[in-house]
Amino acid sequence: MVYRKKGKLLIFSAPSGSGKTTIVRNLLEKDLDLEFSISACSRPARKNEQDGRDYYFFTQDDFIQKIKKGEFVEWEEVYKDHFYGTLRSEVERIRNKGKHVVFDIDVQGGLNLKKTFGEEALAIFVMPPSVEELEKRLKRRSTDDPEKIRVRILKAESELKYAELFDRIIYNTDLEKAVKEAEQMVLDFIRS
Ligand code: 5GP
Repeated sequence: MVYRKKGKLLIFSAPSGSGKTTIVRNLLEKDLDLEFSISACSRPARKNEQDGRDYYFFTQDDFIQKIKKGEFVEWEEVYKDHFYGTLRSEVERIRNKGKHVVFDIDVQGGLNLKKTFGEEALAIFVMPPSVEELEKRLKRRSTDDPEKIRVRILKAESELKYAELFDRIIYNTDLEKAVKEAEQMVLDFIRS
């Protein structure tokens, strides 16, 4: 039997609007044997989102049942009544193919994953240029109403304090540079 090494874990965390999703998307297009871990959540799908592509969308009741059954490797009530989490089955599905798993999750979730997977995981924090810039990006994106944006900014401010707990920090002032830096970090880690 050919022994295939299990894939590693690449955790990208950052406050909403810091550009981590763009960085992650760019990485996934490269030939690095990476696959995106689709999270589960209990919020309704946005207009352009698809179940099984952007998230696995569950009702709150179903989500809570899955928590009780221990189906999540990590989960959180990120916003009131909106649960998000990483299914064990999703991580295994990707790792069993020998691919590396890429996570795009919030700061607390990222730290929880790092705690669980230790040396198998690289936890990267994407730092936005400033809170003002973050606010501008969230408004430009305009997928959320002003109250939701306010909540996201408050959360972002508290999340910035956790950056130092990550293995690496990427300062996202120049997107192109940030993508290159992320690629190098990932390459070094998966080759190590
Ligand atoms: P959104 O509603 O904008 O898609 O995501 C809201 C927040 O939930 C983001 O900060 C995102 O990173 C986080 N998130 C997405 N998936 C997960 C997950 O699996 N676990 C945790 N803890 N947070 C997640």
